[in-house]
Amino acid sequence: MKKLVMVAAVALGLSGVAQAFDFGTVMSAGADLMKSATLGDAEVQAMAAQARVALDQKNKIAPANSAYGKRLKQIVKGMDSEDGLKLDFKVYQSPEVNAFAMADGTVRVYSGLLDKMTDDEVRFVIGHEIGHVKLGHSKKAMQVSYAASSARKAAAGSGNSVAVSLSQSEIGDFAEQMVNAQFSQSQESDADAYGVDFLKRHNYKLQGAPAALRKLAALYGNDSSLLASHPAPGARADKVEKMLAK
Ligand SMILES: [Zn+2]
Repeated sequence: MKKLVMVAAVALGLSGVAQAFDFGTVMSAGADLMKSATLGDAEVQAMAAQARVALDQKNKIAPANSAYGKRLKQIVKGMDSEDGLKLDFKVYQSPEVNAFAMADGTVRVYSGLLDKMTDDEVRFVIGHEIGHVKLGHSKKAMQVSYAASSARKAAAGSGNSVAVSLSQSEIGDFAEQMVNAQFSQSQESDADAYGVDFLKRHNYKLQGAPAALRKLAALYGNDSSLLASHPAPGARADKVEKMLAK
């Protein structure tokens, strides 16, 4: 359950951290919270790159010549960079229906998602995840997560740049929080809109957007949200359909 609290804190922002965590801990972390708010793009990217290494070691990567590897390659054909972000795609072999992108251009798609979704639906999910990066949601989640994690202590204690002073286990914990980051309702909405624009820019089938969200609703139900602020996928599908109708 502790992890769940952590995830909720990430979603709620700094005030959420104060509610979710022991007050004394938050007070002692006050100085580091200030520091985390000043994490620059270069630091955020360096931390994402370290998180990528940790996650790629922990998860089983589908080989490039496997069925999953080939399918993802075909799905993202020609998609080397997006909006100035150089992309690096890989499949994690895991039944989880999940995908994520990070500030350094890392995009990971789980085989469980590939099993459930069509190519067009996967493209929308990828566009949505890249949206979280390009719209600054990932950076904010990273800053909050960093402020709330044990990693901050190492950096604060050493006085070194945060990006180079984390231990392997701290990077691992931090990376897990990134993968499980939950975003606010308005952030999800904005990422959905980014995903739709992404499909338009690449001339992909726009129907992938509502179809992917309807599928998530069918898989998980509209009431399965862990957080009150997390919008149900069915409602999000309705919203992107309105976007498409415009
Ligand atoms: Zn999202």
